[in-house]
Amino acid sequence: MVEEESRRLHLNEMQLPLPPALFEGLDLDCVRFYPPEELEEQLRLQIADYAGVDPSFVFIYSGIDGLIELMYKVFWDRAFLIHDPAYYVYEHEALRQGISLSKVKLRFSKLPSDFSVQAQGKVTVVVNPNNPTGNILMDETLAEKLLSNVELLVVDEAYYEFSGVTFAPLLEKWPNLAIFRTFSKAFGLAGARVAYMLAHPKTVGLFSQYSEVYRVSTLSLMLAKNALADTSYVTEYVQVVKTQMERLINALSTLHISSRPSVCNFILVDKDFAEFLVSKGFKIKFFEKWGRLTVPSPSVTEEVIALAENYRRLT
Ligand code: PMP
Repeated sequence: MVEEESRRLHLNEMQLPLPPALFEGLDLDCVRFYPPEELEEQLRLQIADYAGVDPSFVFIYSGIDGLIELMYKVFWDRAFLIHDPAYYVYEHEALRQGISLSKVKLRFSKLPSDFSVQAQGKVTVVVNPNNPTGNILMDETLAEKLLSNVELLVVDEAYYEFSGVTFAPLLEKWPNLAIFRTFSKAFGLAGARVAYMLAHPKTVGLFSQYSEVYRVSTLSLMLAKNALADTSYVTEYVQVVKTQMERLINALSTLHISSRPSVCNFILVDKDFAEFLVSKGFKIKFFEKWGRLTVPSPSVTEEVIALAENYRRLT
């Protein structure tokens, strides 16, 4: 089981075991009852504190995927804009709901200079840092330029804990900004399906109006609460990712296997090498000429480097 899990490098999941403290006080018998409002309220306060916003700016939901689904329901009659490539669910969900979504191609992994012109009056999504390219797409100047132009600017900060870049400080000034964050990545709770939106209370109100009741389970709320009670394991994991990413990128570069680091928890590697890893039982996501690989644990990084040496000998 552990061996199998360590080969799952395709979904950017946590690669280290979670600390036991995360499961403390988890009373399984609580599932007899519907998720208590007080529990969600406590989590809202913790998130507000963590993100540095007023609790009225916090909306909790079942994953960013859930927030994306809801966003299209709330703004069903608006035009949407996103860059391409971007996290695939934005397009997948728009197609599923029959939403009009325009896509703007990135140029050398950057937003084109006329992006804000195209964004005029639209609900505009920027995945920052972006998945799958792994880089920051927008600085504060561009964010403010977009905010003065768009209906709503949605910034997907799924990888915030790795990149350290956030636009949360702009929330006070711009009521048309919404930030999506998740417990799935640096917090390691992908299976719990908990995420949150930071936005003006007016936007929070709209999302609440369209949301399903009890969409986040009691157990998931409890796990997220425990995670925020002590985030030292998150800080440690982020550090491990940075160290192993550097180690892997250096080793691949010495072996002349092309690769690209990211400010997230994944790297891009040469597609042929990625296919070689797949033949050895690894799961990897592919896009364009790249394989996208979650930065593995130290021991699996060791294994990947050994395989890269083998691969170089063979090719
Ligand atoms: N946004 C981005 C940019 C992602 O990469 C992912 C997961 N790969 C998600 C959102 C999905 O987040 P969640 O698990 O909260 O639905």
